[in-house]
Amino acid sequence: MSCVKGLKCRECGRPYPKEALFVCEYCFGPLEVDYDYDRIKQVLTREAISARPKNLWRYRELLPIDGDPTDGLNSGFTPLIRARNLEKALGVRELYIKDDSVSHPTLSFKDRVVAVALSKAKEFGFDTVACASTGNLANSVACQSAIAGLKRYIFIPADLEAGKIIGTLIYNPTLVAVEGNYDEVNRLCSEVASKYNWAFVNINIRPYYAEGSKTYGYEILEQLGWKAPRHIVVPCAGGSLITKIWKSIREFEKLGLIEKAHTKVYAAQAAGCAPIVTAIKENSEIIKPVKPKTIAKSLAIGNPADGIYAAATARDSGGGGEDVSDDEIVEAIKLLAQTEGIFTETAGGVTLGAAKKLIENGKIPKDESIVVSITGNGLKTQEAVADKIGKPIRIKPNIASFEEHVRRH
Ligand SMILES: *Cc1c(COP(=O)(O)O)cnc(C)c1O
Ligand SMILES: [Zn+2]
Repeated sequence: MSCVKGLKCRECGRPYPKEALFVCEYCFGPLEVDYDYDRIKQVLTREAISARPKNLWRYRELLPIDGDPTDGLNSGFTPLIRARNLEKALGVRELYIKDDSVSHPTLSFKDRVVAVALSKAKEFGFDTVACASTGNLANSVACQSAIAGLKRYIFIPADLEAGKIIGTLIYNPTLVAVEGNYDEVNRLCSEVASKYNWAFVNINIRPYYAEGSKTYGYEILEQLGWKAPRHIVVPCAGGSLITKIWKSIREFEKLGLIEKAHTKVYAAQAAGCAPIVTAIKENSEIIKPVKPKTIAKSLAIGNPADGIYAAATARDSGGGGEDVSDDEIVEAIKLLAQTEGIFTETAGGVTLGAAKKLIENGKIPKDESIVVSITGNGLKTQEAVADKIGKPIRIKPNIASFEEHVRRH
């Protein structure tokens, strides 16, 4: 049973068939999946969803596959945590962390998009998958394609963190480290994609792949008791996640799964790579590409594919955007660990750091519900904090040596 009608151009609305297409041949707009919402409304009730297994496929009618899902059957439904200690630290009344730092199997929200992309790639009959990645996507494609038994080519900027590289190589894909930044990797991959008949998850499969991000939003709404929060802060790289969280809210409204929502969404970026936040702050319709320079490598996309849509989403919702320095990123990583026990990667530092600033500036009121999107795990980006935390006390293996330290501290 499929609720997918086909693809549709986001700009001109022209319909396209369900194929591995991603760009409108008339206006070059991006293609999006088009669903039959009347049909979905008949089957997808709160009760139906609640009765299903706790993974991202519990919203399957809103995901772009035709048959049964084959990948990511243990992904999704990560914790939504009421962050009481962080509420005190920031002086706010109601704050939640949506915690994809513990996503199965590769500890970032990319497990969601890859689950959908691989299920779809198999439906299309591809035997090889590929991606251009800032790190987390590489981990998840390498891992999930190993499970699926697909051939894989993974392209990354050569200077990624060790955790991201090891966390990819362990699954034994062909890993291509390109001497350049992500935008150069991506440009190369577009050329490769046009020559080879592979499923590039974030190029020719992108319309399907990107839909996986909606499950992060659906889960927030379900876990809040079928309610939308007033504010959501979202990290932006290519700008897809923020638009899909927004779409998840609109879809749940349309299906009657939540009441009319008044949620404002905010884009979070590192100051060293903030093309989306800059466009939001300057109220500009265009994205000026930048050369990234930040420790938040997972977000270091200088020319974001969905940048204009991400900026428009933040603006139209009544939200906004904020950027943070590398020092503020590290401080926020430490704050989240020391209040809520969550060790997030640099992207999470960006998000919490931006949320903190938005609260301090009064852009987010202290007495309204706030969700902070934590999308990746700190064990993958240890070099960002290694010199900025304490050191162990080193002692001899005897009680006298221990007590000497106890006396001194
Ligand atoms: C990819 C990524 C993002 C941003 O995703 P986009 O949809 O490209 O904006 C956020 N957080 C982490 C940890 C990521 O890996
Ligand atoms: Zn078009």
